[in-house]
Amino acid sequence: GGHRPPDYLSGLNPEQRQAVETTEGPVLVLAGAGTGKTRVLTTRIAHILATGKAWPSQILAVTFTNKAAREMKQRIGVLVGEAVEGMPWLGTFHSIGVKILRRHAELAGLRSDFTILDTDDVIRLIKQLILADGLDDKRWPARQFAQMIDGWKNKGLAPNEIPEGDARAFGNGRGRELYRAYQDRLTTLNACDFGDLLCHPIRILRSNPDILKEYHDRFRYILVDEYQDTNTAQYMWLRLLAQRPSRMRTSDTPAVGRDAEHLLAASEDAAPATVNICCVGDDDQSIYGWRGAEVDNILRFERDFPGATVIRLERNYRSTAHILGAASHLIAHNEGRLGKTLFTEKPNPDDPKVMVHAAWDSEEEARAVGEEIEALQRKQHNLNDMAILVRASFQMREFEDRFVTLGLNYRVIGGPRFYERQEIRDAMAYFRVIANPGDDLAFERIVNVPKRGLGEAAVRQVHDASRALGVPMLEAAGRLAESDELKPKPRAALRGVAANFTRWRDLLDNTPHTELAEMVLEESGYTDMWKNDKSPDAPTRLENLKELIRSMEDYESLRSFLEHVALVMDAEQNENLDAVNIMTLHSAKGLEFDTVFLPGWEEGLFPHQRALDEGGRSGLEEERRLAYVGLTRAKKNLHLWFTSNRRIHGLWQSTIPSRFLEELPEAHIEIAETSSNYGGYGSGYGSQIGGRNPYGASRFDSAGNGSFNNSYSTPGWQRAQQNKTEATNRNWGSRSGHAVERIGYGE
Ligand code: ATP
Ligand code: MG
Repeated sequence: GGHRPPDYLSGLNPEQRQAVETTEGPVLVLAGAGTGKTRVLTTRIAHILATGKAWPSQILAVTFTNKAAREMKQRIGVLVGEAVEGMPWLGTFHSIGVKILRRHAELAGLRSDFTILDTDDVIRLIKQLILADGLDDKRWPARQFAQMIDGWKNKGLAPNEIPEGDARAFGNGRGRELYRAYQDRLTTLNACDFGDLLCHPIRILRSNPDILKEYHDRFRYILVDEYQDTNTAQYMWLRLLAQRPSRMRTSDTPAVGRDAEHLLAASEDAAPATVNICCVGDDDQSIYGWRGAEVDNILRFERDFPGATVIRLERNYRSTAHILGAASHLIAHNEGRLGKTLFTEKPNPDDPKVMVHAAWDSEEEARAVGEEIEALQRKQHNLNDMAILVRASFQMREFEDRFVTLGLNYRVIGGPRFYERQEIRDAMAYFRVIANPGDDLAFERIVNVPKRGLGEAAVRQVHDASRALGVPMLEAAGRLAESDELKPKPRAALRGVAANFTRWRDLLDNTPHTELAEMVLEESGYTDMWKNDKSPDAPTRLENLKELIRSMEDYESLRSFLEHVALVMDAEQNENLDAVNIMTLHSAKGLEFDTVFLPGWEEGLFPHQRALDEGGRSGLEEERRLAYVGLTRAKKNLHLWFTSNRRIHGLWQSTIPSRFLEELPEAHIEIAETSSNYGGYGSGYGSQIGGRNPYGASRFDSAGNGSFNNSYSTPGWQRAQQNKTEATNRNWGSRSGHAVERIGYGE
């Protein structure tokens, strides 16, 4: 004793320090949000490097996002300086997987310069295979099969390993053959998909003991962040790398006809030697179940790595007592938790409570959030320290629009900005051609979207004709359709497109532009394309399209709307700029901000209707974990919003505050009395809320009346809503001119 610990250790609490210093053997850190799990991992790497236990290249560290990997590298650099140089194996599962695969590509039947296909490529490929198999691709959509393959790969299942029932469920029982044909095709193309980035390495390591040994020798220390969201394949991969058997198992050949459970069980007979693996996670933050994550991997850890040191961290360093109190109380409503205690030192009487605000609709919500942000800015708060976390991406649109109007810098993290989304760009391309028939770029984008049987050759012909005639592509298409230069099918398709655009253009000046826009998306088949789409993101895209139409209401004409969007798209998105962060709750994992805004806490939006429709506990509980993730991102200020009206399925409906609001402890929240402090629509706002909810008292009905007697257990809220909306709208209409105007749009 008597030594002064190195600087990087001195700030840690005893449990954190134990997690850092227990470098040998398996370690599981199971702890709530903001307790320093990520900090422990970073410091642990610094410690390993500083004490010379390993070179940077001998450490394998897995983060959930590339951004998190970059940040971790930076933080290690601060702790140990030059020693961090390298760290070639710090990244996401996928980025590490691709690296391993490139080194041994030939063992997966690929060359090292293989390409990684994106979802669109994958779907196109699968569709070819479905058609080649003589199947009807309407009945057996390629997207659905892509999803199934992804699910199998999340479990590490090769074609011969998928359950019989799964195989029968698609393509008249030809699921297995199709999966096999797909893999063969990928090999021929020297390509792989995202799932292969894990599955190929697993198979290579499993069937080549010499290579596996090479990695066992290489990776002295393995570290994993956000462990609760690993899927089965990732877990298998980790275990292969981490479990150094003292003797090589003879059964270590690729398993045939066994399911994932068997594969996982397969190595349990191996006597593990030292395993220096450290995983950190929080079961309450498992939010990727829908993508195959298995929170059970946490339970499995102690079984698979006997003698593991399990460390619990209980002090939250991130949030105020109010924020932590609210979050802990909320998550306590979930059953089947592993259970953790969380506390924060020294509650400060000056800390603001968690604020719950009511807004009339999403426009007012965005306006009020914008004013709150400007007020904070006047108090010298950085925009970088603020975040708006939304449940559904369509919610971003209102904020983006508002911030552009205000001239507030913002950035969207973890996904495209609203107007950059594929479905929005497609829809906008239609509108652009209607407003400007000479917009060839827009025309090319949608000429064959949805698919109309126009191949590349036909489109090139339109291109050539347009050049030769010196007219826009749309016009050239019309002329080509009347000539006999094309085969009948593309000719008919072009004729249809040209006729549609002529008709829509004729309507431009005498039809309300939102109506026209809706008509265009319907008649072009674009909406149907997504309606028939079985992929899990299709409903989101339909939601975004509805939101697009809704946003057009605020503009006088299609042209002024298009101009507005061009301006929004031009707004700078610069990492180095001081800017408000906008992102989904899913991409906020692991991050922290001084001030967090959580808009849209309404039944049907959050918890999301899809989770409620699933029935059962698990969907709702995953939503609640998502709420917990949202609340625990905030350090000091936390603002929750619910609106009283939202446009759902094209109709204005009065909405019910989220049940999650009801689940927050009274002691830690404060209900904002009126919106007048945001320069809103004056007083009387609170009483409007009081008059709003005709089906039962809620403490969110009327500001601060403190009643707790509504649990909102009615899953059929939407049906109830539809019946009540008309009356409610009338009530509200009589109280506010603004309201009349807004409601008027919906009818
Ligand atoms: P999440 O579950 O949200 O990923 P986490 O457990 O990974 O959270 P960290 O992000 O590592 O938590 O830490 C939360 C905050 O607390 C960070 O700002 C971190 O720097 C700080 N922190 C962690 N441990 C300590 C400590 N011992 N002393 C001071 N601050 C700390
Ligand atoms: Mg973390």
